[in-house]
Amino acid sequence: SLSIGIVGLPNVGKSTLFNALTKAQNAESANYAFCTIEPNKAVVPVPDIRLDVLAGLVNPQRVVNSTVDFVDIAGLVAGASKGEGLGNKFLANIRETQAILHVVRCFDDDDVIHVANSVDPLRDIEVIETELILADVQVLENRIERMEKMLKGDKGLAPKIEVAKQLMAHLDQAHPAATFQSDSKALPDLLNELRLITAKNVIYCANVDEDGLTEDNDYIRAVRGLAEKRGAEFVRISARMEEELVGLEDEDYREFLESYGITESGLDQIIRTGFHTLGLISYFTAGEKEVRAWTIHDGDKAPRAAGVIHTDFERGFIRAEVIAYDNFVKHGSEAKCRGEGVLRVEGKEYVMKDGDVVHFLFNV
Ligand code: GDP
Repeated sequence: SLSIGIVGLPNVGKSTLFNALTKAQNAESANYAFCTIEPNKAVVPVPDIRLDVLAGLVNPQRVVNSTVDFVDIAGLVAGASKGEGLGNKFLANIRETQAILHVVRCFDDDDVIHVANSVDPLRDIEVIETELILADVQVLENRIERMEKMLKGDKGLAPKIEVAKQLMAHLDQAHPAATFQSDSKALPDLLNELRLITAKNVIYCANVDEDGLTEDNDYIRAVRGLAEKRGAEFVRISARMEEELVGLEDEDYREFLESYGITESGLDQIIRTGFHTLGLISYFTAGEKEVRAWTIHDGDKAPRAAGVIHTDFERGFIRAEVIAYDNFVKHGSEAKCRGEGVLRVEGKEYVMKDGDVVHFLFNV
């Protein structure tokens, strides 16, 4: 399944954040017994107020959220692309993820050593991104070499080699692959094959202290500015505080957030932003046994969405009965929606929308 890799220099708060995510996983683990537990992976429920609203209307026995997977990629240091630290293994782990959460230290604390002896978010980001670019350069170099050998037998490769070389020049100037632009028709194919690390979407995560939660400091401004320049997502969080927060009961938790004048914890923001960055959306099933969010890709059609529940549902798909979330809430039940004529019957070409409340009909 799709996952987000957590990267950043040592001592910036990655493990602390990952522990908080793991706690969020374990708090709900009864509902996710189907997930295999891996030490460096957290399968975290996506907060979604709409599920609570639906549950309030339907009174189900249980509520199940969508999930998003985070992978802890510890050990990325300067020189990783040359095999320093545990270099190559970690780069291989990042390559398998679909998006990156880049944690950046934005707090002062003399008790927490910084690997470069000072707090400087933009320099830190550059150190990590340089390693990732160098790793991509190696992959691209190998590919160009192989394509040039194959060119004699396959002249059709010429446009692909040409755009690969332009991309190489771009990386050589220390630019990430994500900012490379070209009209070449061969580019999408090349990028698909290479799965470059620096082509992935990045969420920049400023790890701040308690003051930084409510007030910008220069570190935070620098990271947000970079994220804006890149067209990337930005989230601020206090990893240490989140780790303490995860265990709290709902009410204490809300009170705590309110005391900081915020409505959503950084952890929840990261989870939601991550889900969105992976191009995922949720549809709902709302039965008396279970109200549940199901994870699909933005753009999936109805049969594919049915297949997430069970492969038989996709194979035997007949039609979907769909109620928009707002209509379900307005009328309060499937029966009422049917009566009011807002339950739509959709066929196999229907493109699912985020928040659809769905009932699939299928042949076995
Ligand atoms: P990693 O090497 O990136 O995984 O960093 P860790 O999560 O192990 O954190 C390194 C140190 O920084 C630990 O001692 C944490 O307790 C501390 N730390 C993490 N987040 C914060 C924070 O928001 N504020 C402060 N003051 N310390 C933090």
